[in-house]
Amino acid sequence: MNKISPLLLTAGLLLMNAPSFSQKSKNLPPEFSVKKSETEAHMRFLAADELLGRRTGEQGNLVAARYIAEQFRKLGVKPVDGTQNTGTKSYFQNVPFEKLGINESGEIVAEATTLKSGTDWILMTGGAMDTTAALVYAGYGLENTAKGWDDYKDVDVKGKIVLVQSGTPDVQTPSEIIASSTEKRKIAIEKGAIAVIELFNAPMPWNMVNKYFTGEKIGLAAENNTGKTIPHAWVNGKDANLTRALRNVKEIKFKTSGRQTKLINSYNVVGFIEGTDPKLKDEYILLTAHYDHVGIGKQGGQPYTAEDSIFNGARDNAFGVVGLLTAAESFSKVPPKRSVLIVALTAEEVGLLGSQYYAAHPLLPLNKCIFNINSDGAGYNDTTIVAVMGLDRTGAKAEMEKASKAFGLGVFADPSPEQGLFDRSDNVSFAKKGIPAPTFTPGFREFNGDIMKNYHQVSDNPETIDFNYLLKFSQAYTYAARLIADMAKAPQWIARDKYEEAAKKLYRK
Ligand SMILES: [Zn+2]
Repeated sequence: MNKISPLLLTAGLLLMNAPSFSQKSKNLPPEFSVKKSETEAHMRFLAADELLGRRTGEQGNLVAARYIAEQFRKLGVKPVDGTQNTGTKSYFQNVPFEKLGINESGEIVAEATTLKSGTDWILMTGGAMDTTAALVYAGYGLENTAKGWDDYKDVDVKGKIVLVQSGTPDVQTPSEIIASSTEKRKIAIEKGAIAVIELFNAPMPWNMVNKYFTGEKIGLAAENNTGKTIPHAWVNGKDANLTRALRNVKEIKFKTSGRQTKLINSYNVVGFIEGTDPKLKDEYILLTAHYDHVGIGKQGGQPYTAEDSIFNGARDNAFGVVGLLTAAESFSKVPPKRSVLIVALTAEEVGLLGSQYYAAHPLLPLNKCIFNINSDGAGYNDTTIVAVMGLDRTGAKAEMEKASKAFGLGVFADPSPEQGLFDRSDNVSFAKKGIPAPTFTPGFREFNGDIMKNYHQVSDNPETIDFNYLLKFSQAYTYAARLIADMAKAPQWIARDKYEEAAKKLYRK
């Protein structure tokens, strides 16, 4: 072994270092040089008070969609065919919704007993009504020949109000009771009833039922298919006095201001970046994150004050959208081998509806989509890691670990399995179709009080965000997407995963 003089060594290192360093930074993809000020600016805009909690269909939600689309335009991300449902290209996929309003007032009068709306009963659906009519009891209000249910036998409800019990003669779980309620209304309409009063009795507290079902409700317009409806009230069936009052009269007065339905629009924001490999660019990786949140005041369903009534949704989910915008920026500069489809989703908070709609109306064939990385989160309490729901369920674990490590982050798999988080975000809409679809989430190991402190709270605002972490998270998300999009073989679900069958169908293997 020869000995090198320190001077020569220094000179040699300098010579070796200089080119190798610039070589290295030249080879690193653009996500390595994203500026913190950029990710911070996206966050401060999307979660700003002025966007009023980005509730689906409200102005702040539309402004957020516009912001994302204009970032795409600036970066040269391409629009996709069919986005406006008119065959023209734009960044907006129109998603039609139907909004069911709240019942402002009403009363049911049964002789000496007056039942107040919002206390003794709630209106599930139906327009305004102010009438006095005959009340006819029809058991469970169900018909099923196979099961021998025939509650309308010898009962004439034409032009009358029908009184029914909740549930079915079979087992009565809350979800069965709720599902059978719609069936009861359908049959009552067929029989010519003008309204349904249901003595609602399920193994759950009435105040919970009352809170959960009286608020404004948003559904996909196409699937709601309301058609003709009639006022349908759930009376607190746990209150024996109310039940007795209704069972003992032949006629009631039914007055309600009704729940108005209104068609509203919101958008999935869609952008495309073509891959570089002629053999692989036909396939694409799908990047998703929802940009909607819950809104302001009462809409949030959580405590608020006069000083702060805005549910900003910084963590949930401006955070994930910043990841999408970081990916858009990096991939528009240096695309991966496969193509990239970025879809910023609406209406996650009202039931994963934006992703459901997209999965049912995809703009590129789903069987060309090799993988979905969704990003969504309730919050974080460990900025040394990212958490990945479904990390061990697909063949892309190594890529997600490598990408996170590149930015000094560890990866934690599936925290709080008892919460069933994999199936609680938009990734599940794609997993159900067979696409391997984990969710990349800000760091936490446990869904504890630390998370709940900000989860769907007015405190989830940009002032409480760790911007160093936001940058690293967005970079790791983007780099993970790149590594997966560049894989020689598309990653699969691991054997016997519950979505493996769907994958076989989708990819026809
Ligand atoms: Zn949420």
